[in-house]
Amino acid sequence: MKLNFTNHNFAHCINLPIPRGPIVTEDDTVLEMTSDEVQSKTPPRLKRRRFAPIKIANQIPMRRRKEIEKALGEVGESPTKWSRKDGTKNHIFLRKRIKPGTIRHIEYDLLDVEIGESWPVPVSVVHGSRPGPVVTLLGAIHGDELVGPLALTYLCGSNFMGPDSVIDPSVLAGTIRIIPIVNLPGYRRMIRDFPDGRDLNRCFPGKSDSNTTSRVANKIWTQILSSSDYIIDLHSAAKGRTNIPQIRANLAHASSNKIARSFGIETILDSQGPRGSLRRVANENDIACITYEGGGSDEADPESVQISMYGIINLLRSLRMLPGYPSKPRFRILASGSVWIRSDQGGLLDVLAPAGSFVEEGEIVATITDPELPGVQHDVVSPIRGLLISSATHPFVNSGSPIGHLLPVKRGVSTLKKRLDDEGCLIISGSDGEPPWREDDEIEDIAVFGEWSGGSPDAEWGHVNPSEEEDDN
Ligand SMILES: [Zn+2]
Repeated sequence: MKLNFTNHNFAHCINLPIPRGPIVTEDDTVLEMTSDEVQSKTPPRLKRRRFAPIKIANQIPMRRRKEIEKALGEVGESPTKWSRKDGTKNHIFLRKRIKPGTIRHIEYDLLDVEIGESWPVPVSVVHGSRPGPVVTLLGAIHGDELVGPLALTYLCGSNFMGPDSVIDPSVLAGTIRIIPIVNLPGYRRMIRDFPDGRDLNRCFPGKSDSNTTSRVANKIWTQILSSSDYIIDLHSAAKGRTNIPQIRANLAHASSNKIARSFGIETILDSQGPRGSLRRVANENDIACITYEGGGSDEADPESVQISMYGIINLLRSLRMLPGYPSKPRFRILASGSVWIRSDQGGLLDVLAPAGSFVEEGEIVATITDPELPGVQHDVVSPIRGLLISSATHPFVNSGSPIGHLLPVKRGVSTLKKRLDDEGCLIISGSDGEPPWREDDEIEDIAVFGEWSGGSPDAEWGHVNPSEEEDDN
């Protein structure tokens, strides 16, 4: 996939700090602006084009469709605790008083100890001058997944945060809490898990008297996460594979469904998340939570970083916390099932169709050779037409190893093909510059139905633990 910039200086390549359009409050009233402000901040709207939305409802499994429709029918009013009719109050966070319109950087201890290592992690809190929801942004719950830490660190930089920047506390409605690296001990060791070998994203909500990782989960759940209205958890694929930028959310949880769509990228996987994962536990407590996946662990995929930054800004604009119109993709793939491409041979893998490729049934997506048998090569073919959302990056394979993870696309193919680059890879919204603003009814929803093999999107990757039938990155 081609990038629209040649270095990693995101401050210059993402042209965000211009709020587009008037400031709209929760009550749909437009805040007054002076004529100078209007001239400087309101470029003409994009020309509106109308497309008839494609009806896809009959493609989603009936039972799941009913669950989602029922949940979306229950969307209520904004909670009175952040009604914009009230004035703004101080934000109390960890017994610290944060005044409206200010930014505070705080050190937060993952463990409560008097002696020994308390694992302090940096938390930035932006408390807006207007009332609004509390959004928590998390990176590196898995210590070796670096896309989240990079995106959140850039967002906390002076190019994006501060007076006259895109996240301006004097304009912001509500509160943003940012923890770029949750698993700092794992990050320092360049490993996924906590030092006791446990996966934090299987330990929520945790217990205060249990093992180390469970104590950390419990502390951040009770002190930070459970008081959030929206949680965005940034991840990358685990070792040996890479993911195209995608959102995972339980679409039958109404407010999670809303923010999953407002992130503004094409691929949304409907999945409630494994037991003990933050997404699942947050939804069980009726807190909106989505997981963003982009790139792989141990790598700083610049495209995944850029797309996640656009996505967060989109989401904050959609929630009317920031001024400006959120951008939206031309189409969305709402997937409730997938197909695995597997190797039938062992050897060394050469991937021909990387993650993001749109492949045809029978297309050769990879070849396998064996150094002990020079001249012999086996092809791996795609069993069905679809979009590869994940592919193996580790060359060692055995018979049965997953090579790729495919969303079978049956409708909307011509729409999708219009957004392929020269190499047949999907150009994801936000990867080629700031995406345009669109009406919601201009977006084509493409449903991919089926089931997640093993119970969740990534259950087939990696080691199989019989006590845990679900997996997630
Ligand atoms: Zn992860």
